[in-house]
Amino acid sequence: MKIKAIKTSTLNVSAPPPRNTYYPHNTYVVARIQTDEGLEGLGYTQLVGGDGASSVRAYLEDNLVPRLLGEDPLHIGKLWQKMYDADRGLRKKGIPMYAISAVDIGLWDLFGKSVGRPLWQLWGAVTDRVPVYGGGGFLSYTVEDLVKEAEATFAIGARHYKMKVGLPNVMENVERVRALRKAVGDDVHLLVDVNQRLDVHTNIRLANLIEPFNIFWYEEPVYADSISQCAEVARRINIPVATGENEYTRYGFRDIVEQKAAAILNPDSMRCGGFSELLKICHLAAAYDIRIAPHLAPELSVHVLAAIPNALLLEWSITRTPIWREEPRVVDGLMSVPSRPGHGMEFSEAALSKYLVK
Ligand SMILES: [Mg+2]
Repeated sequence: MKIKAIKTSTLNVSAPPPRNTYYPHNTYVVARIQTDEGLEGLGYTQLVGGDGASSVRAYLEDNLVPRLLGEDPLHIGKLWQKMYDADRGLRKKGIPMYAISAVDIGLWDLFGKSVGRPLWQLWGAVTDRVPVYGGGGFLSYTVEDLVKEAEATFAIGARHYKMKVGLPNVMENVERVRALRKAVGDDVHLLVDVNQRLDVHTNIRLANLIEPFNIFWYEEPVYADSISQCAEVARRINIPVATGENEYTRYGFRDIVEQKAAAILNPDSMRCGGFSELLKICHLAAAYDIRIAPHLAPELSVHVLAAIPNALLLEWSITRTPIWREEPRVVDGLMSVPSRPGHGMEFSEAALSKYLVK
């Protein structure tokens, strides 16, 4: 089997209210890998708010596609390395790794389809359903928005909800956490996410102030570029630190693990290097008993979490735009893995006609 063509496209998917108070849309850069035997693998990556999408697509078309045409798509390890070694002047973080991730996801989809099996089975199934947590809780939300989204999350059986706490006024964050905890009671888990917005000392102060509200994890306290500062926060607060949505490849996660910068890792399959690299990161973490709660793309990450011993939670959102032919199913707070071959996802006709921009 040979790769005959890789067709790229872009979808701008509108965010629903109240999420659209934070960003109006997310952008998917799509790579459809087509073979001489008629099989097609669907690869994609997602740019939050659309930032960088045209650059990712250009990198994919200019630097990756020419190197892949004519290759056997089932030699995924060889092709991943070929993409990684494609140039020596752009470090494989950010734009290049979003593009490599999209292709890798498409190659694995193709491989699963070629053998008629879903990916979680090919990787050695541990389970067939994975618990989700509710993401959202943006800084632009009112407290009423927070409470409503959290309660809707708990209503589908999830036991964890995450809110943002990166407001510059520390006490404003504390009051929002206090109000949400008061509204939802003590029987559910609350998670907080700083999104790299605060410095080390402000993080320590904030974490100490919200510790009495029983916080499950404290996410991405400082700039992702500064692992040593994240490690300092992790050492000096009593809430477990989670990080990794802005980290890339086994090398980046090795540094987080070696520096003890996090108790929980949040790799994003659409950024960190695709399924190939996400599996390596999960196995590296397993050797340290560090658990994995991937960032975004639950429909993809569910395959990996169902096949590793150190799965924690999938990021799900109750406020999302349906875009799939078959939407992921969450019952009693658990997402079932699809039985369809490959990753099993395809954009719905309605989503394509509404959101495809070119
Ligand atoms: Mg985050």
